[in-house]
Amino acid sequence: MGGEQRETGRVIRLQAGFYTVQSKDEQVICQLRGRLKKGEAEGDIVAVGDLVDFNRLPEGSGVIEEIHPRKKAFVRMDPRPRGEYQQVMLANPDQIMLVFSCTQPSPNLRMLDRFLVIAEKEGIPPVIVVNKIDLLSLEEAGEIFEMYPPLGYPLLFTTAKKGQGIEALRQRLEGKISLLAGPSGVGKTSLLNAMQPQLGLQVSAVSELTSKGRHTTSVRELFPLEGEGYVADMPGLRSLALWDIEPEELDGYFPEMRPLVAHCKFSDCTHLCEPECAVLDAVEEGSIHPDRYESYLRMRFGDVEIALQEDLDNI
Ligand code: GDP
Ligand code: ZN
Repeated sequence: MGGEQRETGRVIRLQAGFYTVQSKDEQVICQLRGRLKKGEAEGDIVAVGDLVDFNRLPEGSGVIEEIHPRKKAFVRMDPRPRGEYQQVMLANPDQIMLVFSCTQPSPNLRMLDRFLVIAEKEGIPPVIVVNKIDLLSLEEAGEIFEMYPPLGYPLLFTTAKKGQGIEALRQRLEGKISLLAGPSGVGKTSLLNAMQPQLGLQVSAVSELTSKGRHTTSVRELFPLEGEGYVADMPGLRSLALWDIEPEELDGYFPEMRPLVAHCKFSDCTHLCEPECAVLDAVEEGSIHPDRYESYLRMRFGDVEIALQEDLDNI
């Protein structure tokens, strides 16, 4: 077709029907070719993180002609009046960085375990970043998070304030698309700024916008790193409950429980109080960490039943 030359780039921003595509050192605002919009009712056609082929229009903008198959996607099923809608939060994520501080605020391990369950469900490898290690000894900080490395979850110790661990963080992010999550106040903005001036501020500005929109659960923007790679802020932090995880599948997202479940006497064992439960046996003998088991119970039953269980224990 008359001198058209397709280029390939990555969608880094969505805004009112326009897609910003990063192509080499340039950003091109694109629209979607009409024929690609088929199937729009069932799910997002293009998401931030997608690799696309586009053609340039004479005035400098572009038209997306082709979307490359996704290696992976962070998706949510959204029930809508005319059927389920597949919302793509982020296309092609390589990892999710779960940022917590070892103190101030003291780490909320229940929240961390929830994030780990989501990462397991989505099949995206998590990395736990433990920030503010200038405020505790490395031993003390390590002890708080000691149950995670044996489960296959790597820990990265950092201090945005003193600069330790920043180079290691940079290397972890290099060449990858990374989602960033964690409670506020743990130092996400400071860490990104320590790596790359202004980056943290840009990310948190978008994050603030996103948290104001009630139903925004998709990533709005990828931020390019110097060198290669992108970071994105994970939206919908406060609506973790939205993650449709069925109670019966929860034990499958705890790597330490997964291999045991088949050994429980009852195939529908909830691992709360059933006889001959392999998970309860493992908790008792210490091979499942009590904090992790508590997180499981809270996610599965909420707080009421745990109180009940404690009552039963006291009889
Ligand atoms: P965010 O809400 O996760 O983006 O956290 P911020 O980056 O805004 O940091 C929250 C507070 O923690 C600020 O007062 C920072 O100065 C402080 N802070 C961030 N990183 C560190 C650190 O490594 N050590 C200490 N002592 N304070 C930090
Ligand atoms: Zn069981």
